[in-house]
Amino acid sequence: MKKKLPNSIIISVLLILLALVLVWGLSRQKTVDIKTANLNIHRGPGIDYPTIDHTQRQRYHVISKRNDWYKIRITDHKYGWVASWLVDRKKPLGHVSRLSEATVVIDAGHGGSDSGAEYKDSKNSRYMEKTYTLQLAKKVAAALRLRGCHVIMTRDNDRYVALKPRPQLAESAHADAFISFHYDSSPQRNEGTGITTYYYHRGTSKQLAESLSAQFDNLPLTNKGTDFGNFLVIRDNTRPAILCEMGYINSRKDFHHIKSFSYQVKVANDVVKGLNQFFKQ
Ligand SMILES: [Zn+2]
Repeated sequence: MKKKLPNSIIISVLLILLALVLVWGLSRQKTVDIKTANLNIHRGPGIDYPTIDHTQRQRYHVISKRNDWYKIRITDHKYGWVASWLVDRKKPLGHVSRLSEATVVIDAGHGGSDSGAEYKDSKNSRYMEKTYTLQLAKKVAAALRLRGCHVIMTRDNDRYVALKPRPQLAESAHADAFISFHYDSSPQRNEGTGITTYYYHRGTSKQLAESLSAQFDNLPLTNKGTDFGNFLVIRDNTRPAILCEMGYINSRKDFHHIKSFSYQVKVANDVVKGLNQFFKQ
């Protein structure tokens, strides 16, 4: 004959199990210390959502995470979203701008087995487009990160990246801007010169192109303004997306600047200014 377990034992076991589940649940809930004062709290996970509050006390409970934004509890029944990279910063950010709350994808054209266009000097040495798009992309990324911006690079070394994954990265990150860097090339060397900023989609992409292009007047190469361009990385892109041809690599005059540190730094500063302008709109 089977003996039945007393009810009191069953209830005790159930209570212990319940307590364990509760402890496990609480231990999984993350709290964050927000070191940067007065961070914007948005209604949703992104800068396009209205600001509903600012951070005040130091410690918040994180409920969930989406698009690299934290959903935090402001009061018992009030929730909002903050940019996780600003919360997680070790050094508090001095100046919080809309740019610091933005996610920007920086795309260095070509890479790896795809070297892009090239410049050949009088000794027949070859200088490849992929080298200079990466140098520029790294400087732009560093300048943006200095302002707190969340930067994602499609590549940060000399490796092959197919075209399609580049806009897909902007989509999955829900990027606020996608900027692709390239250098132009003319059929005959030394025939082409200058900078062109391309958009495919009208609306925010065209606005982004205009905001950046307006900053390029201080560069030593002719700024040829904005134009429509049918490039896959900006065409098959649902986020604001542009492609910048920052000079002709097979022009001796243009290449002299393209390879120079000071030109690259100037472009990086212009991109910061242009994005600031774009996010203010
Ligand atoms: Zn190219």
